Amino acid sequence: MAKDFYDILGVSKSASSEEIKRAYRKKAHEYHPDKGGGNEQKFKEVNEAYQVLSDDGKRSQYDRFGENYQHAPGAGGRGGQAGGPFGGGFDFNGFNGFGGQAGVDFDLGDIFSDIFGGRQERQSRRQRGVDLEMPLTISFEESVHGVTKTVTLEKRDKCHVCTGSGAAPGSKIVTCTKCHGQGQIITTRRTVFGNMQSATTCDKCDGEGKTPETACTVCGGSGVLRRPKTLEVKIPAGIDNGQRIRVQGEGEVGYKGSNPGDLYITIRVPASKEFRREGNNLHKELPISFVQATLGTKVEVRTIDGTIEVKVPAGTQPNTVLKVAGQGVPLVNSGKRGDLLLTVRVIVPNKLSKQERELIEKLANLNGEATQVNKSFWENIKNSF
Ligand SMILES: [Zn+2]
Ligand SMILES: [Zn+2]
Repeated sequence: MAKDFYDILGVSKSASSEEIKRAYRKKAHEYHPDKGGGNEQKFKEVNEAYQVLSDDGKRSQYDRFGENYQHAPGAGGRGGQAGGPFGGGFDFNGFNGFGGQAGVDFDLGDIFSDIFGGRQERQSRRQRGVDLEMPLTISFEESVHGVTKTVTLEKRDKCHVCTGSGAAPGSKIVTCTKCHGQGQIITTRRTVFGNMQSATTCDKCDGEGKTPETACTVCGGSGVLRRPKTLEVKIPAGIDNGQRIRVQGEGEVGYKGSNPGDLYITIRVPASKEFRREGNNLHKELPISFVQATLGTKVEVRTIDGTIEVKVPAGTQPNTVLKVAGQGVPLVNSGKRGDLLLTVRVIVPNKLSKQERELIEKLANLNGEATQVNKSFWENIKNSF
């Protein structure tokens, strides 16, 4: 009796589980005994094929051992002819009692919800915990130099008393009394097709077949507790406003305290009054007097690291950009740094002492520059830049 489950469903050996599910739904509709042109024998074959191919473990056994898959180690050997080769799954023998009630309108969805419901529920209980996201504000200086911050968040975490097992300390682990160690509850329902059996994951042991004799009193046996957790988070030098840091495994825990999600920290950096960041460069204004701009000077400049002396050459024009290499923002996780760019602002005085005025007037006369002292002398000076 060599059956090819892939042929029965009309899919290739490399079909994805999604393709298999789709093919199964299509064929099940086509052959359903309740439809005109349905075929009970084929319907059962389709179901048998789907039971095997939809289960990764059974499918790989079948792929390896072919028609002898029943004898393969690990392939559930409980079932005989009646239960199908993989007892413990779904039993469609209820359809044997089908007597050809043509024209009965039935809801396939109802049947499928039993089939898929059990699986989905079981999977979701073992799912990974959710990712968490939190904002964290650091100072501008901290964003440039890097910082270690202590953050506290409240989350679903592994119970600290039972470390996620759900068992009271010292409790024995015993066979589940509800499912008798099967991990599944088989229920039989009467339907228009006869008796139908469906399997759902045992809710007492979550499908494990074993439960602690005494549940942990702190978490009620769930293995999970909502509680605050304090973390030290290392924020790398050079991080920018809006960037996110992933802290692996610090989201909420999943089933019984396992498979934790990740924590994402969104960094907020308020603007600096002194520096403007552009990529990895820092910009800053450098105000000097028109005399300093004319004659050249050395000025002390506060950088993000400390103070340096910057040489302004004689004849420096307004808005000239002076570059101080390597005094910008570090590139995250690299030894490189951006530059500090100083934009020269030439300050024209709006108040002069008598002596200053006389000197500047002399300079103007020397250069043959017309001046209207009371009105627009300074306008002329400004316009000359
Ligand atoms: Zn506990
Ligand atoms: Zn159970």
